[in-house]
Formats: sequence, structure tokens, C-alpha cells
Amino acid sequence: MKKKLTGRCSCGGVKFEVQLPAKFVAHCHCNNCRRAHGAGFVTWAGFKDEQFVLISGRETLNEYATETDATRGFCGECGSPMFFSSPRWAGEIHVAVAVIDGDLEQLPTACVYADRAPNWCPAPADLPHRGGESGVEPIA
Ligand SMILES: [Zn+2]
Ligand SMILES: [Zn+2]
Repeated sequence: MKKKLTGRCSCGGVKFEVQLPAKFVAHCHCNNCRRAHGAGFVTWAGFKDEQFVLISGRETLNEYATETDATRGFCGECGSPMFFSSPRWAGEIHVAVAVIDGDLEQLPTACVYADRAPNWCPAPADLPHRGGESGVEPIA
């Protein structure tokens, strides 16, 4: 059996389960993630839709449709930002690693939108930096 991990929001209203391994784990330094999560950057793990199960909280889970056609899922009760999906990554859900219980077996392998990191929270130097218009082009 493949390993599964659970996760939840602060109040526990929204609970989910993901099946490992994640397709990727990466830090995102874009302005939208920074603002949505109130944090220097957000560490995301990407899963295929079929690797993700919402256990509870369908009625509590709110979705914010962004200007970029993406959807950000958060708990309407406690406000925890949790999920991201977009037509750019159709069939995938990106889960904020911070709301997963326990450690993923995988560590982040890249910093995306690294050129948008603010000076008060630079992208970690020990990971490959990606950026440019798409956010994922290799940069120095
Ligand atoms: Zn909650
Ligand atoms: Zn981002």
C-alpha cells in the first residue's frame, strides 16, 4: 500500500488525505501566494486529483477565484489557506505542505518565482531558482 498522509485546517473543520508520492514539492515566492498566505513564501506539494480525498468540510471549504483563473481553497471558519488549483495544472491539486500532518517524505526541489522574493525573505540559496514570466524558467 502506498503511504497516505492526512491534513487539516486550524479548526479541524476541513480534513483531507493525500496519497504519496507528490508529483513535486516546491517553494513558491510569487506575490499572490505571499498575500494569500500572509507568509514570506508558500511550500506546495502537487498531487493528481485522484491522489486527493476531502474527508470532511465540503460545506466549510471556501474557494476564491483569482484574477489568473486559479482557485484558492481556504477554511471559511478559521481562514487557513490550504489548496490551489488552476487550468495551468489541470487535473492537479496543490496542497500547502504546512497544513499536512507530519512530514512528507519528499523535500522541496526548487524555488519558483524566485525572482519575486522580497528582500526580507529571500529564496533559499541551496535550491535551484526558477522565475521569469512563467515563474518556472531556470534563472541564475
Ligand atoms: Zn478551519
Ligand atoms: Zn505562488
